[in-house]
Amino acid sequence: MGLKIRKGDFVQVIKGKDSGKKGRVIRVYPKENRALVEGVNFVKKHVRPRKIDQQGGIVSMEKPVPLANLKYFCMKCGKPTRVRFRLLPDGNKLRCCAGCQEIIEPR
Ligand SMILES: [Zn+2]
Repeated sequence: MGLKIRKGDFVQVIKGKDSGKKGRVIRVYPKENRALVEGVNFVKKHVRPRKIDQQGGIVSMEKPVPLANLKYFCMKCGKPTRVRFRLLPDGNKLRCCAGCQEIIEPR
């Protein structure tokens, strides 16, 4: 079974504190069912100085969000849509938008 959300996809957050935010998927973690999305789920992290002349402090960084909180955002439909798989005669599966039927791959 293929993943519906892949690296490079444009997605919208549909649940959680970042609900409504949109961004591009930087990385997918299939085992954890999470994805890292550009500009989504920023958390503050305390950083300790590693060198004597380096200052510690707080940095903001993105953390992966559950795939269940994300929905593929179709540019053509202009809204988050469902992704369907279309089976080709050669056995390959292509992802397409359930709304406008536009094929998502290849990019
Ligand atoms: Zn569409």
